[in-house]
Amino acid sequence: MNSSNFINIGERTNVTGSSIFKKLIFDENYSEAVKVARQQIDNGAQIIDINMDEGLLDSVKAMTTYLNYLAVEPEISKVPFMIDSSDWNVIEAGLKCVQGKPIVNSISLKEGEKSFLEFADLVKSYGSAVVIMAFDEEGQAETSEKKYNICKRAYELLVRKIDFNPYDIIFDPNIFAVGTGIREHNEYAKSFFDATQMIKKNLPYAKVSGGVSNISFSFRGNNVIREAMHSCFLYHAIKAGLDMAIINAGQISIYDQIPVELKNCIEDVLFNKNDDATENLIKISQNYSKQSTKKKVNKSWRKKSVDERIKFSLINGINDFVVDDTAHLLKKYKKPIKIIEGPLMDGMNVVGDLFGSGQMFLPQVVKSARVMKQSVNYLLPFMEKEKQLKSGKGKILLATVKGDVHDIGKNIVGVVLQCNNFEVIDLGVMVPAERIIETAIKENVNIIGLSGLITPSLDEMCYVASELNKRGIKIPLMIGGATTSKIHTAIKISPNHNFGVIHVTDASKAVSTATKLISFKSSQPFKEIISREYSDIRKNYMKKNKEDTKRTINDSRNNKFCINWKDYKPTKPKKISSSILLRVPVKEIIPYIDWDPFFASWELHGKFPKILDDKLIGKSAKSLWNDTQVMINDIIDKKKIQPKVILGFWPANSIGDDVEIYKDDNRNKVISKFFFLRQQVQRKNSKRANYCLSDFIAPKSTGIRDYLGLFVVTAGRGIEEKANEYEIKKDDYNAILLKSIGDRLAEGLAEKMHEHVRKDLWGYSKKENFTNYDLIRENYTGIRPAPGYPACPDHSEKQTLFQLLGVEKKIKVTLTESFAMSPTSSVAGFYFSKKEASYFGIGKINKDQVSDYADRKKISLEMAEKWLGPNLSYLKK
Ligand code: SAH
Repeated sequence: MNSSNFINIGERTNVTGSSIFKKLIFDENYSEAVKVARQQIDNGAQIIDINMDEGLLDSVKAMTTYLNYLAVEPEISKVPFMIDSSDWNVIEAGLKCVQGKPIVNSISLKEGEKSFLEFADLVKSYGSAVVIMAFDEEGQAETSEKKYNICKRAYELLVRKIDFNPYDIIFDPNIFAVGTGIREHNEYAKSFFDATQMIKKNLPYAKVSGGVSNISFSFRGNNVIREAMHSCFLYHAIKAGLDMAIINAGQISIYDQIPVELKNCIEDVLFNKNDDATENLIKISQNYSKQSTKKKVNKSWRKKSVDERIKFSLINGINDFVVDDTAHLLKKYKKPIKIIEGPLMDGMNVVGDLFGSGQMFLPQVVKSARVMKQSVNYLLPFMEKEKQLKSGKGKILLATVKGDVHDIGKNIVGVVLQCNNFEVIDLGVMVPAERIIETAIKENVNIIGLSGLITPSLDEMCYVASELNKRGIKIPLMIGGATTSKIHTAIKISPNHNFGVIHVTDASKAVSTATKLISFKSSQPFKEIISREYSDIRKNYMKKNKEDTKRTINDSRNNKFCINWKDYKPTKPKKISSSILLRVPVKEIIPYIDWDPFFASWELHGKFPKILDDKLIGKSAKSLWNDTQVMINDIIDKKKIQPKVILGFWPANSIGDDVEIYKDDNRNKVISKFFFLRQQVQRKNSKRANYCLSDFIAPKSTGIRDYLGLFVVTAGRGIEEKANEYEIKKDDYNAILLKSIGDRLAEGLAEKMHEHVRKDLWGYSKKENFTNYDLIRENYTGIRPAPGYPACPDHSEKQTLFQLLGVEKKIKVTLTESFAMSPTSSVAGFYFSKKEASYFGIGKINKDQVSDYADRKKISLEMAEKWLGPNLSYLKK
């Protein structure tokens, strides 16, 4: 457990607690019953509690026989025995058999001071320690005061009257079940913690113990919840001073791996934090009925040869022993390169094969790569310069293009390529074309991989491609990242570069693509196939584009989406015209997280929590999930991540497709304008409107006092700082994991804040009461479209949003030249409150709108075309 001094007492050797043990004793199968004790010790028990109290059993005989069996087992008799009975005869029979120092469990003041002292005196004469229950003539103590008072009374009697050694006193202040639905029981855990604290503080040398399984009695049948409850209870009890406890050492979850959401619910129950605590725990317990949070550790593989061990570590992604094992290997092989080309490559080849054949999934591969990197990192100082790692299959340069900062996908691709014996030069994020080209030439790379998340990066990729072409550099390009697509690559990037451009959908495809591109034999035919495919895509696109007639912008405006403003009464936000800064603890964000995109970013597709039980990917998902819980718990403990929010509401009205922002509610001074775009799609047989976000804000002409909300949330700089630390330690796995959690925290925070806005800050939907599932499905009133997304694809509008809120100064989120946000784990957007408001996509727009948009924004047509690139219905010059 957490404290190294804490002592586990095994509970399974108990006829009332374990039906298996009971049967063995009734059958007098003592040699099997001995195994139960051994299992407890193997699972970490440092004392075993033995109980033979059962009406139909000759308990004196059973206790004596069993203890005699145990006495001849050195592995078992090395631990102290706790003789557990409510019958003094059984206890005394036990005491007579035990060789080492025994512990009697238990005596109490139930029958008054006289008999209490008589028993205690006997215990003392056997040199035994004793457990004293918080029980007196009036009954079992339930409140913390009562518990403490009984223990104090017992302590004083023992120490003063019979000179009992206080080191040998162990109090058990009664652990009773919580979460039973009975109000009086709600304080039980807390009163145990409090009593423990008082005992440890005021009764010198006395110890505190307890039977932990009781606490979760009302959750019988759901072992996941029980294990988690035991672990949470112990965590807090040990903090309060608990010295030892009777537990089933094999059935306890790892505190750090308990999902935060579950942990919060359990802790609410343990500390009786609110009236709904039990009900909430029961609700959430249904999600956790099947999976187990337990970690099974089987270490027999450590006994194999060192070559086998490193291979095992690689394949299983275990990095606990990698440095030791590599040091061993170095002694054996003498030359580092032999290790790399020998056992390390052997192991990675297995990983590559398993991944390639769909038997292993991304999170495990990244973990395997970590073992590889950490091993190589150890070897590097021992290697001769000229013999340093030569690229096995080829050299690949990776970069996130200028103006863009997102790199999870690129990092994953890098790791996967390295696993497959490619040498990777990763130039990081925001890399200008010049640097990419210079490095590619200097390092003589075989492939350049470009990555990007936001739409302006597409333009930048075209630029890199054309620059390479201009200089006659014959290196093929691989294109990847959230904003990229096969169509765009075919139409816009590929024509710029004559030496191969190919779009790669995900990390697992990168390996086969790179292999084909580099292979001497298949490279040329492969490039030709792709080139033909892309040329077909281009031709189809041109044809379709001609057929697909768009509305003029004027016609589209005439078909705008109309709200009945006559009946509309806007709600005025609590505070307007200035920004509000909030800090939100990580713990409070967790319940708002939508986990599906998280698993998707690791290429595990499915619905959470079902994905954890999936036949194919469940194991991988569960392991990722456990690591995620460990990391989240660590984030919460260390408090290094400080999520922040800035938001505000401004008086606003629409004029055409623009939204004017006023200084105050007098509405006579325009301080800013947002420029939105309108759909120009011509729908046959449909009366659907041509939407623009400004349709959701009351036109100035109506005289209605309408409002627009703005927000930016960020998980904070801490994510990147901490991820850097991992990268330095060659721990890509945790670096990527942390960043992917950072993104979730930002999105979860956006969700949480939106709720806070609706219910309170703006308050137009005060009474809503949605489950998290409803929130994730966006079943509420109002929307929060984000600049750069389909309804408002122009990233550059973030500039205005940032200025109004004062984002850079107040929460230190900045914009790159392409208007990507840094840190990346940030979300920006608008709040629209109307019930009619919905998400839509602008789709393709004509030049008439683009040139009108440029005029409105007072920028050049070229500039407008640059920011709206993917939305243009025409090919710009
Ligand atoms: N639950 C998701 C939420 C993010 S995606 C997650 O955790 O990843 C949904 C968000 O993307 C919306 O809240 C909105 O901010 C943005 N969005 C989605 N569709 C949009 C559209 N058509 N136009 C503008 N923004 C959109």
